[in-house]
Amino acid sequence: LNILGIETSCDETAASIVCRAPDGSGEILSDVVLSQLDVHAAFGGVVPELAARSHVSTLDRLIKQALEQSKMTLDDIDAVAVTAGPGLIGGLMVGLMTGKAIAMAAGKPFYGINHLEGHALTARLTDKIAFPYLLLLVSGGHTQIVLVEGVDHYERWGTTIDDALGEAFDKTAKLLGLPYPGGPAVEQAAQSGEPGRFKLPVPMRRDPRLVFSFSGLKTAVRQMAEHETPLSKQTIADLCLAFQTAVTASLDDRISMALERFKARFPECQDPALVVAGGVAANKAIRSSLLARTQSAGFHFIAPPLNLCTDNAAMIAWAGAERMAQGLPPSPLDLAPRSRWPLDAEAIAAIGHGK
Ligand code: ATP
Ligand code: MG
Ligand code: FE
Repeated sequence: LNILGIETSCDETAASIVCRAPDGSGEILSDVVLSQLDVHAAFGGVVPELAARSHVSTLDRLIKQALEQSKMTLDDIDAVAVTAGPGLIGGLMVGLMTGKAIAMAAGKPFYGINHLEGHALTARLTDKIAFPYLLLLVSGGHTQIVLVEGVDHYERWGTTIDDALGEAFDKTAKLLGLPYPGGPAVEQAAQSGEPGRFKLPVPMRRDPRLVFSFSGLKTAVRQMAEHETPLSKQTIADLCLAFQTAVTASLDDRISMALERFKARFPECQDPALVVAGGVAANKAIRSSLLARTQSAGFHFIAPPLNLCTDNAAMIAWAGAERMAQGLPPSPLDLAPRSRWPLDAEAIAAIGHGK
């Protein structure tokens, strides 16, 4: 199966062709991503209207590039898969309209894909791992622990009750005067931080509910920073280190609880694995802490290459391929974009309680 994937849910415009062999293995034939970082950097965050306009002006060209790089024409494509949510409505509309038009003109089936399903299934494209496994998604818009039991079988085990982790990195960077996006800036500053100078509480530690919370931490950093005038470079570094240390410890605590739950639920699972996805997975302190925790719990730690952890269209094409291979039906051509779209029914019932 050769699938054309399109992703426009946030601030990356992306197109990709992915091939899925009958044995379930996958190959990325092309993967074009255009980040809008420079469009939004001056505003310190993604501006939805600018994002949508930028998708409109670049998407056609990116799709053409993706086809050229894979040396394919639309005739060689078996289906078109497009992110239908969750995300910014304007951008989703651009991707859906384009994808539907291509599917209709070429007479190919069309699949509206949940962006989170894309993240959830990427590990099967890169590492060919078997169900069930656990996913930790840590990005600018999401902080979730998801049980991936099969294609279309997801259970959201945990989410944030306030900020997403990447969002917390971005806001913390902003209040300390560091550039956007904040994650890489905070990580870099933390490298010259003095351990232990500032101590921050570890959010949600040992809370029996599997939830995350990061906004209190950001407020604590703000209050500490306000007492430090002038705010020296060293103090900023020390605060960044304290923030990164606290979120790393919080993730570790929450993940170790999830791994225990997984073992209790699947005692017969021979090869348990934790997969990470999302831009925050680039953080080295977080990565090495997760690696240590998963290994000591007897889990494989799977971190797909960074370009597949952040937003891309290969994961959307792949999700379409997995759905098609499962015999799941295509989407209707009047499918509407959804700004919120949790992966599982339980989460839909809980909508309104965090992202
Ligand atoms: P989503 O995918 O949920 O729609 P998004 O597009 O904002 O949201 P990504 O592109 O996956 O998410 O990731 C971007 C986020 O990752 C930003 O919040 C950024 O600050 C954070 N990030 C990137 N690198 C690092 C790092 N080294 N440490 C911590 N956070 C990081
Ligand atoms: Mg992004
Ligand atoms: Fe994403």
